Amino acid sequence: MEYQGKELFRGVGIPTPRGVFVRSPDDVAAFIAENPGAWVLKSQVLMGGRGKAGGIKFASSPDEGRELARELIGKVLRNEQNPDGEEVKSLLVEEKVAIASEAYVSITIDRAAKKPVVIVTAQGGMDVEEVAAHDPDAISKYWIDAAIGFEPFIARRLAFAAKLPTGFQRAFPSILGGLYAMFMEYGANLVEINPLVLSEDGRVIASDAKVDLDDNGLYKHPELKAWKNEAPADEDQAAALATGLGISNYAKLDGNIGIIANGAGLGMGTMDAVRNAGGAAANFLDIGGGAQAELVKKSYNLVVGDPKVKAMFINIFGGITRGDQVAKGIVEALAGDDVRKVPLVVRLTGTNEKEGREILAGAGMNPVETMDEGARRAVELARG
Ligand code: GDP
Ligand code: MN
Repeated sequence: MEYQGKELFRGVGIPTPRGVFVRSPDDVAAFIAENPGAWVLKSQVLMGGRGKAGGIKFASSPDEGRELARELIGKVLRNEQNPDGEEVKSLLVEEKVAIASEAYVSITIDRAAKKPVVIVTAQGGMDVEEVAAHDPDAISKYWIDAAIGFEPFIARRLAFAAKLPTGFQRAFPSILGGLYAMFMEYGANLVEINPLVLSEDGRVIASDAKVDLDDNGLYKHPELKAWKNEAPADEDQAAALATGLGISNYAKLDGNIGIIANGAGLGMGTMDAVRNAGGAAANFLDIGGGAQAELVKKSYNLVVGDPKVKAMFINIFGGITRGDQVAKGIVEALAGDDVRKVPLVVRLTGTNEKEGREILAGAGMNPVETMDEGARRAVELARG
């Protein structure tokens, strides 16, 4: 989606509007309250043509932001290309740029020529197919020889041929160079900026992003595999996404012990230990590496929200994940209003273990020493 494409843009030095990715109207209001100004709310869906489908709104106060976000989240956007439509579940809130001019830039593979082709037109902001149909001369192309790669003269030649307003020219080589680098690095089928905006204050910014990655290139960047299955299939996956984790970090099972671990491997090991102790996991959440207290707190609530859970086992092997942050998150979760409490077993080793133990001790909790001991304890407690 757009917000992911823009993350990649920033990685190659292509300027994007400042902004934030959100999943709730309250988050929009809070963000605008902290950052007064004019903002664009952009529905994050895979389909294009969001503007015309009513998926892009402008807000300049926290209340207006909340109101419009309520309209957008849950709405199904439709157009001729996507008659079934797509439900909006998240938004990108971005600085509203005062637009002086809009251009279009993309790189894709020309299968016939067997080369990447760069396509540029000064008629940005609309469908490039439409421009191609009505005004084909307004479109300029350059086929890149992959053995030579991108050279700045290509950008200068294209800017001239497409008659881009002069304000685009200085930034254009670096933007196109970044786009080509990204196209090659990720093995993309398409990278597209429509519109590439020239702002009234003279900045050149990628206002929109479309990136289509080739599945066959994903082995080089496993972190991007999540893009392909971003859409949650059910409520549980949606809940996992809402914590900020990926949908594959959370799995529901048939037993009665909730499990939180850092890392999928440790999670599997923990489930085995529970089974060896005669119990069964109700679910399993991998909080990944480097979890902060806030994520731990959300994770606790997610796992305990499963009514099958009769006891919970939190098994942390500290590396990048710090024991004090985990402990702080647990204590904060338990201090929450109307939080559901079940018997809890914690094992905490590694980075900042001592600090973590002190925080837990302050709340009357004592971690167990080993995974097997923790598993046995959790199984006993779940039996009640
Ligand atoms: P798309 O319709 O899905 O391609 O979404 P875009 O990101 O391209 O946005 C659609 C349209 O919304 C743009 O062509 C602009 O007309 C408008 N728009 C988006 N962002 C801004 C902005 O920052 N400032 C202004 N003035 N218009 C914007
Ligand atoms: Mn667009």
